[in-house]
Amino acid sequence: MKIICIGRNYAAHIAELNNERPLEPVIFIKPDSAVLPKEQDFYIPEFSNDIHYEVEVLVKIKRVGKHIKEEFAGTYYDEVGIGIDFTARDLQSKLKEKGLPWEKAKGFDGAAVIGEWLPKTKFKDLNDLNFKLIKNDKVVQSGNTGLMLWKIDEIIAYVSTFFMLKKGDVIFTGTPAGVGKVEPNDYLRGGLENTELFTVKIK
Ligand code: ZN
Repeated sequence: MKIICIGRNYAAHIAELNNERPLEPVIFIKPDSAVLPKEQDFYIPEFSNDIHYEVEVLVKIKRVGKHIKEEFAGTYYDEVGIGIDFTARDLQSKLKEKGLPWEKAKGFDGAAVIGEWLPKTKFKDLNDLNFKLIKNDKVVQSGNTGLMLWKIDEIIAYVSTFFMLKKGDVIFTGTPAGVGKVEPNDYLRGGLENTELFTVKIK
């Protein structure tokens, strides 16, 4: 499986990182080795002093498709969830400055937290999903998918013009404002509407 991530999909997050608002979705990929195994703690890697959490809504692709039309995108997924796109912000900033690819800052081992999945039929409107990240009992990020610049079905249509989507692929749909640094002993919990879908301990 592959992980396809959308960058800069929430206006408030674009502003907090002083990024430009993109004309098209910003896409990057994490390898399958980036998935943090279930129940495993996240170890801050030695190459970074500034690992950020980014909570995001996830979609799991259920069948092969390419050049998917937006109106049919919904037939390519049944499950939604949330996860964390861990980012070595110090490394990413250096790479961005030089115009180099971000992969080292985003695709390292454990950089993708994927929570439990929920059937999309559980929700009335996927473009009105509330989600949040709690760090040590304090809400640090809260978002609503209605604020995404590109909605789930638009993302699937766009992404599938470049990459064939396969069963089991996961799309990270971008992070809302409020990203920040993790420290050893932090405890992160992610919730979609009223359901907690993951917990991660930082080491
Ligand atoms: Zn992200």
